[in-house]
Amino acid sequence: MINVAVSGAAGRMGATVCDAVEGADDMSLVGRADPLLGVELQDVLGDADVVVDFTQPDTALHNARLCLESGVHCVMGTTGAAFAQLEGVGTGNLFVAPNFAIGAVLMMEASKLAARHMPECEIVELHHDRKLDAPSGTAARTAELIREAGGNVHEPIHSVRLPGLVAHQEVIFGGLGQTLTIRHDSIARESFMPGVLLAVRKVGELTESPVIGLENLLF
Ligand code: NAP
Repeated sequence: MINVAVSGAAGRMGATVCDAVEGADDMSLVGRADPLLGVELQDVLGDADVVVDFTQPDTALHNARLCLESGVHCVMGTTGAAFAQLEGVGTGNLFVAPNFAIGAVLMMEASKLAARHMPECEIVELHHDRKLDAPSGTAARTAELIREAGGNVHEPIHSVRLPGLVAHQEVIFGGLGQTLTIRHDSIARESFMPGVLLAVRKVGELTESPVIGLENLLF
């Protein structure tokens, strides 16, 4: 049994993660930390093997450091912070995914392939109007992967924020007399849960930390 605490448990993603953990046979939900619940992260660390964090860009780095220094593994879903600087911190492992949806990971993989043949491209990411960071962590990661594959991602990345949206992204490649559009839509937050649960199961086995990107657990 993996003992899991959720940081940001009263938020949109955090509440969905609590439900998913409670529904998993091999996990036990041992804590819900959130200012709205009056529970601090450090209050739930003692019982946890793994903390899943979906909070805010300005607190996530501190939360991850607290977990690692307490010897607790951390699965980080919050976007907009620079987690690479936590290499070598503490004895817990850190796993970070800018996007936990399998379809989004496949969108990034397909974009890497397309960029090798049609290098000129633009990214349009679309999210709900409560999202704090722009461009999204998924868009920033996609741009990084495309550039590593030799593509030319035009700046700026386009960010759309509107009620009614969840999380969506298009990568549009332009070539001679043709375009190719690769699009992914998360239409419900449940789309992220299989990836989150996979990360909870694997984070303790990582041989380096931090590991960034769900593709590292899938392929
Ligand atoms: P949200 O609804 O605003 O939830 C964030 C929650 O965290 C709020 O309840 C907030 O409380 C709480 N919080 C803030 N500081 C905290 C702290 N120090 N300790 C514990 N809890 C704290 O936001 P959301 O839509 O769930 O998104 C959360 C994050 O996940 C964002 O960065 C978003 O971009 C990211 N995200 C990632 C993925 C992925 O696949 N990686 C998918 C979707 C979203 P207050 O409201 O009181 O501040």
